[in-house]
Amino acid sequence: MDILEKALRMLEKHPLCDHCLGRQFALLGHGMGNDDRGKAIKSVLTFQAHEEALSGGRDGVRVLKVLATNGFSDTAKQILARMKKRVPRKAFPKTCLLCENKFMVVGDLAKKALKLLEEYEYSNFLVGVELPMEAEEREDEFRAKFEVSQGESMRNEFGRLTGKRLAELNGKTVEFKKPEIVVLVDPFAQAVRLAVNPLFVSGRYRKLVRGIPQSKWFCSNCRGKGCEKCNWTGKMYAESVEELIEKPFLEAAGSMKASFHASGREDIDARMLGLGRPFVVEATAPKKRFLDLGKLEDSVNAHAKGKVEVSRLKFADKDAVRRLKRGESTQKEYRVTIEFDDKITVKDLRLLEEKLTNVMIKQQTPRRVLHRRADLMREKYIYDVSVKKLSPRKAEMKVRCQGGLYVKELVSGDEGRTTPNVSELLNNKAKPVKLDVLKVIMED
Ligand SMILES: [Zn+2]
Ligand SMILES: [Zn+2]
Repeated sequence: MDILEKALRMLEKHPLCDHCLGRQFALLGHGMGNDDRGKAIKSVLTFQAHEEALSGGRDGVRVLKVLATNGFSDTAKQILARMKKRVPRKAFPKTCLLCENKFMVVGDLAKKALKLLEEYEYSNFLVGVELPMEAEEREDEFRAKFEVSQGESMRNEFGRLTGKRLAELNGKTVEFKKPEIVVLVDPFAQAVRLAVNPLFVSGRYRKLVRGIPQSKWFCSNCRGKGCEKCNWTGKMYAESVEELIEKPFLEAAGSMKASFHASGREDIDARMLGLGRPFVVEATAPKKRFLDLGKLEDSVNAHAKGKVEVSRLKFADKDAVRRLKRGESTQKEYRVTIEFDDKITVKDLRLLEEKLTNVMIKQQTPRRVLHRRADLMREKYIYDVSVKKLSPRKAEMKVRCQGGLYVKELVSGDEGRTTPNVSELLNNKAKPVKLDVLKVIMED
């Protein structure tokens, strides 16, 4: 069907503003707004009707009346006035069927958003649109009724126009993929709210002392509420790697809440040495984003002095968290000090090196973690083992293995749940007394 004919049919039935009429033909003609598109269609319809009316056709006047009322056209109104054709006042609708004239508030919405955004640091944003269900249903019905196939949704148009307007006001860019802040506008309620996306910083941490868990550990007695047993802290341990890193980060980012992600974890009594373990810390709804990471590194290292040390801080994103989780099973290198029941010989040590290098270890979930992990049989590969004698009953073993191998159980055997193991190979009960993680091998 002819575009003009189709547009006229729409206007005969419903009042439509320039935006809402033009939007039904949004795919036709580029680089112009729907309002200009709607205005153009209405103009041509007006000229045609005017010509017909001048040549005495009765339909010309009828169409001019449609344009003056449902089309909100001033030109049509003026022509009718000149021709002394009256239109009763009550024939004029007040609002557009689809948008209820809400395209007029786009500028106000942008200003409201600008005000809310004042307290945040950001370089890009995206506008999201929330519409009342009735408005969306009305539009769906309309599009079905008139078989609109080259149109755009009202949601799209509101989003684009508000975004453009806001970008003019704040000088920032509209970012579709990973916006720092999503501005949610409801044109019908004339409401604006912000969804501030988290700020991610990645790095590596070293844990220099034993006895600190990686993550905050809630008291098992009160589950975090605070009780006598935990000295009213709600926690099993006063400090954790997570908390030590998070505190200065939250302060710098002006955020109330953080999440900590790491590539695997070391036991409480193990140190994490070498280059450190990759982590990503995530600040919820940060007020500040343009952090000086050198300064942040210094303040974390001052705050956690002697306990935890961070390095290689970089801005990251959600994908970095996914990569961390995927990378959990990459290679790790451990150093474990072992105490034996009986004296050891150099020959014993060579035997360990030989039997534990390039070997697949079968490991049933250790008894000590059974309360939080499923009881499974896992296979983990050891690439390399080297052992050094420290005293008649003590040795130091370095293990380079696939991530996820429980090294303490590799030593003790965990009552046969890990095979082969050090105790069994030497027929000499072996106990891990100190464990350090030396390397977490992972691409940054
Ligand atoms: Zn409208
Ligand atoms: Zn407690």
